[in-house]
Amino acid sequence: MSKLQEILDYNKLFVENKEYVKYITSKNPNKKLVILSCMDTRLTELLPKALNLKNGDAKFIKNAGASIMHPFGSIIRSIIVAVYEFKADEVLVIGHHGCGMSNLNGDEVLEKIVQRGISKEVIETLCNAGIDIKKWLHGFDSVEESIKESVELIKSHPLIPKDIVVHGLVIDPETGKLEVVVNGYE
Ligand SMILES: [Zn+2]
Repeated sequence: MSKLQEILDYNKLFVENKEYVKYITSKNPNKKLVILSCMDTRLTELLPKALNLKNGDAKFIKNAGASIMHPFGSIIRSIIVAVYEFKADEVLVIGHHGCGMSNLNGDEVLEKIVQRGISKEVIETLCNAGIDIKKWLHGFDSVEESIKESVELIKSHPLIPKDIVVHGLVIDPETGKLEVVVNGYE
């Protein structure tokens, strides 16, 4: 059975058995929180449980490494929507130990791309168009530094109101233990 069919079969029963009832909530985050975190599979359930967040409590934004690549990219755009449209007033940037983006090497990823059959001409064309693919694919050297940079970028963003509190944290992907890197109240 395909993955999709398995999902669709399960989904049919989920809806029929009204298993959704316990998740019903509104689209405004009850705790007025926006959380930017990593897409790491270990955090899917662990992170909200470790922070006592239930369905409806926070807006979650996820990507590889919880990093903000561009001040006018989709992450900041999502934070702005959460702040202005959904009344969020605090932002948590949560990175984690053992992140796949830590020490990720742009050259190595590029090699894998070529091995999977993407032609070198395509890569050259992108490079000639001014896209620095190696830099774009590069991860970070220190999760703490990456979090600090993201917090600073959000706090100093010209479209984010000054009363928005931004915290930076690192989570242990096994125990869920949090460490504060930036306390936004200080
Ligand atoms: Zn990660």
